[in-house]
Amino acid sequence: MTDTVTDRFLRYVVIDTQSDPKSSTQPSTEKQKNLARILVEELMAIGLTDAHLDEHGYVYATIPSNVDKPVPVICFCSHMDTAPDFTGANVKPQIVRNYAGGDIRLSGDPQQVIRVSDNPELGNQIANDIITTDGTTLLGADDKAGLAEIMTAAQFLVDNPDVRHGAIKLLFTPDEEIGRGVDKVDLKKLGAEFGYTVDGETAGHIEDETFSADGVEITIRGVAIHPGFAKGKMENAIKIAGAIIDRLPKDIAPETTAGRDGFVHPIGVTGSMEKATLGFIVRDFDEAGLAVKEAMLEDIVNGVMADFPGSSYTFEVKQQYRNMKAILDRHPEIVENAMEAIRRAGMVPVRGSIRGGTDGSRLSYMGLPCANIFAGGHAFHSPLEWISRQDMDKSVRTLVELAKIWEERA
Ligand SMILES: [Zn+2]
Repeated sequence: MTDTVTDRFLRYVVIDTQSDPKSSTQPSTEKQKNLARILVEELMAIGLTDAHLDEHGYVYATIPSNVDKPVPVICFCSHMDTAPDFTGANVKPQIVRNYAGGDIRLSGDPQQVIRVSDNPELGNQIANDIITTDGTTLLGADDKAGLAEIMTAAQFLVDNPDVRHGAIKLLFTPDEEIGRGVDKVDLKKLGAEFGYTVDGETAGHIEDETFSADGVEITIRGVAIHPGFAKGKMENAIKIAGAIIDRLPKDIAPETTAGRDGFVHPIGVTGSMEKATLGFIVRDFDEAGLAVKEAMLEDIVNGVMADFPGSSYTFEVKQQYRNMKAILDRHPEIVENAMEAIRRAGMVPVRGSIRGGTDGSRLSYMGLPCANIFAGGHAFHSPLEWISRQDMDKSVRTLVELAKIWEERA
């Protein structure tokens, strides 16, 4: 078997693995196992004899150590599902060979154009081979690029026993896109000390920081009364909810923040005269900043409620995930080794943060400290998604170097 990373990628993206947030099954869609089974077969063919798919839809495998000394066991992880945002059925990948620059018009839908103005990274892809969709589906580079890269690195390590490395665990998860990617993972069985999700974007990037995230649910009890007899008595919960939303600061919103600034973001409202419920997500890189934003939100609620003496509210905060940096900072070698691997693979490492969460943020708190390495894809979750063959090759080289570096430094 001499599959290139591109061969693998093109094989995986045509398998529909869309996850479904409305499903209560595990995995959320049975079809994710179609890809999982192929991955297990391919891992066995490479020679990883413990490869298996478990009943929850996770794929586990081990690349055994080929040295005598103890080396920390690391894990490479990527997810098999694609986002519910856009269809992942009947993906027809297109390859623009030897890209000459300029916008890329997609053949299956003339409305869909990958524009240089929206994708400045295209400027670094001249002469590369760029894989796109035909414009009617997403591509699924998020995260089938990660799968193809890990599989190709695994094959390289097995085929080249002179390349020294410790034991490396492979983990492929379902349902990452709906926030359930690590719900049923068995970290004891996995047996890794440190991990890398291969789920980032631009080549050379590594992320060791995610948002910290809470959900807030505010329930308002108003005073309901027949509108014909309501004067001076009615307190309409719908109007109270509207007043709260109206007072949200405009500059602490997703649409007005970037970089390291967090936000408060209403995601749902339901209401009647007597009862209204407001759902929010709150995001910040600092846990303290999260608390400040939640206090501000409750101040707004209190300020509004002062005008409605007969009404009451509850304010419920639920933790969603936490910034993985707090954990990763205790193990600086995770990021340092990855930066060195990126350098040895011919890139300048760029360390960054994610305005969101990854499987890694939860894994880090579950006991597997886990940074996120680039997979090379761009414009995720959309028909304009694209990735280059050359960036996938760079990822494979990075993973191989990373395996070597952990052995060298052990
Ligand atoms: Zn992803």
